[in-house]
Amino acid sequence: MILVANAGSSSLKLGLFDADLREVARAQAAEIEGVGHAAALQSCLAEMGVELGALQGVAHRVVHGGAGLTAPCRITDEVKGEIAAMGALAPLHNPPALAVIEAVTAAAPGLGQYASFDTAFHATNPAVAVRYAIPQAAHDAGIRRYGFHGISYASMVAGLRAQGELPKRLLALHLGNGASLCAILDGASVATTMGYSPLDGLTMGSRAGAIDGNAVLALAEKHGIAGAGDVLNRKSGLVALGGDNDMRVLHRTAPFAVDHFCYWVVRHAGSMVAAMGGLDAMVFTGGIGENDVVCRGRIVAGLGYLGAVIDAQANAQGKGLLHAASSSVAIRIVKAAEERHIAAEALHVMTAGGA
Ligand code: ADP
Repeated sequence: MILVANAGSSSLKLGLFDADLREVARAQAAEIEGVGHAAALQSCLAEMGVELGALQGVAHRVVHGGAGLTAPCRITDEVKGEIAAMGALAPLHNPPALAVIEAVTAAAPGLGQYASFDTAFHATNPAVAVRYAIPQAAHDAGIRRYGFHGISYASMVAGLRAQGELPKRLLALHLGNGASLCAILDGASVATTMGYSPLDGLTMGSRAGAIDGNAVLALAEKHGIAGAGDVLNRKSGLVALGGDNDMRVLHRTAPFAVDHFCYWVVRHAGSMVAAMGGLDAMVFTGGIGENDVVCRGRIVAGLGYLGAVIDAQANAQGKGLLHAASSSVAIRIVKAAEERHIAAEALHVMTAGGA
């Protein structure tokens, strides 16, 4: 059995997977600021009836692997050091992941722990895509594009490959509260909309998406640096445009917010398609991608110039293939299965001898 831990700034999700990667139990703790991640871990384990000592290992979702951690690995002291060093780039995610890693170490010192990184899938992006046109010293200090949602994209690619359905040029759309696009050429990421942090790119639940750097400076002048960060990460996006981050609500109350979301998905999709020289298939995932019939229909309509045509009935049913017979682009939904993929990666590291 492998335990998968997904730690957020104020939450902890645990999933237990057997050797065949079937999920056999799960538990979740929210709003854990008061108790801390170590206590949340213990109460989730108790709820699931899991003894750490009985596990094969614990696998962690780590948002930021930086430039160095570009493949899943066993967690050593050196890996912990790198995850900590990236904490400045992912302050909401890397520190809580480390807290859970340390809590597991304290409770079961000999137990193997593994990490999968959301940035890793984008390690194949070319230098022109990674580099901001800023001075070398700033680049060397880590100000470059990394990209995120990589575990979701890697899981999507693995699933399509296993079914013999992996296309040459795939536009992957991870549309949830956090949202990004990825251009996947022959199974490898060549471009993605998120950059230095998960703030860049699409209009998101509460994040602004792409914004001119000078506008960021103007906000920082007015609100201070932390205040500007709060505005851009927590008070922007759909929340700013429509007063809510839930698409189901916005369809009724704030059509402009929905327009904005779909418009920018289509604009950025054009950039992704250019980066891979065309489009053979598009795959929707994430809460909006998997469930929102209206957004899917509008996004595909916006990409009609590329030959994408959705079948209205298949879209409404939201199952399997969504393209019309006349479409030159395959369209499908793949349910996000990030935790299962993290378990699979940990098992792979174990059996590949990395354990
Ligand atoms: P996160 O990035 O937090 O993992 P999710 O992938 O769970 O986000 O997506 C959450 C979002 O998905 C919600 O904010 C909501 O807008 C949207 N969503 C969830 N279910 C539906 C639905 N049935 N119809 C439309 N949108 C939905």
